[in-house]
Amino acid sequence: MSSSDGKSIVHGEPNTCDAFPLLQNDTPERAAEIFRLGLQQLSRFQAPPIPLNYALCYFYSAGTDLRLREKMDAVLGGGWQFEVARDLFLRFLTPCNDVSMAELQKELLVLINGVVESAVNTNRSTVQHTEALDRQIDRLEDCQDPKQALQIANEVLNEARLLANDSRMLASDMQDAAGEIVRLKEELMHARREASVDPLTGLSNRRTFDSTLLNLVAVDEPFTLIMMDVDHFKRINDEHGHLVGDRVLRQLAKLVSARTRATDVVSRYGGEEFAILLPRTRIYEGKQIAEKMRSGIGGMNMRRTDTGVQLGRVTSSFGVAEYQRGEAIEALIARADSALYSAKRNGRDRVELSSQVVA
Ligand code: GH3
Ligand code: MG
Ligand code: MG
Repeated sequence: MSSSDGKSIVHGEPNTCDAFPLLQNDTPERAAEIFRLGLQQLSRFQAPPIPLNYALCYFYSAGTDLRLREKMDAVLGGGWQFEVARDLFLRFLTPCNDVSMAELQKELLVLINGVVESAVNTNRSTVQHTEALDRQIDRLEDCQDPKQALQIANEVLNEARLLANDSRMLASDMQDAAGEIVRLKEELMHARREASVDPLTGLSNRRTFDSTLLNLVAVDEPFTLIMMDVDHFKRINDEHGHLVGDRVLRQLAKLVSARTRATDVVSRYGGEEFAILLPRTRIYEGKQIAEKMRSGIGGMNMRRTDTGVQLGRVTSSFGVAEYQRGEAIEALIARADSALYSAKRNGRDRVELSSQVVA
């Protein structure tokens, strides 16, 4: 959905996270030159000189990612907006958790290899001890001399001790490794969760939205996309502050999730914008679900917990589009977006459907 000044928040692009650009190693001379150019861009974009903006302008000037440059020109050229800048920063300049996940997976693999190696070694040594034991027992059976029998018995005892020691060491190694594996598995699950969830609302994030959408397109079944944007959300922030705004977003996320089915995927698409993917759903069913969300939000009656002051009626607008077979993902998003835009234009607190079919 376009924001009120007509600029669209970036969407439909894969996360460019194969490397972490902030770690790139420019020579001091080149870094100084980029620094100078970056400051010029900062001033040209009229961006406040905070680190996030400076980082964007640095990489704009470095020119290492042309898509970042194009995107910045397109969405920030007409006026700097913090949310848009933050979105670009997260998309282009922060490391993707895939990197840490890959590291964790590597660690896990090394650990498992270590355990297997240790088990194989112990087994080899156990076989040697067992063979020695067998030989000594044979000797013991053949032995007629009590003195020699005592000596062999001592050797047997010794081998048996070594054997027991091997097993104890293996058991202890295994126990340590099991603890390590549990710890790494938990870290891996945590990293996976972090990579797929929006921290403010607990909803799926854009990354999950993108991958879910790709999966839905791959399955030959109809599905519907709802785009939702909170009406006049800026006013809530202006009147009550950002923290209250954040709480409102969390409440809305809860309500929207409660109005969906287990198979639907609700994502935070942008600042105060949500995207809901409804698998195996035609547009009219999607419309009913959007209507339920719309009326639920309109009837929420939220009040501040600190002062008890009512926030006034919070409403949202919705655009609904059903996927057309063979359609590009971007085209589906654009249709839902433009239906949402119609809902805004036609007075907000409305659900509009996209009837337009884009080839
Ligand atoms: P419209 O009905 O046209 O959508 O009006 P609007 O005020 O909702 O739209 P606009 O795009 O002008 O403003 C969106 C606001 O959402 C601006 C931004 O500060 C706020 N916002 C975006 N993300 C967050 C967030 O995470 N927390 C809070 N509190 N505010 C956010
Ligand atoms: Mg918006
Ligand atoms: Mg809005």
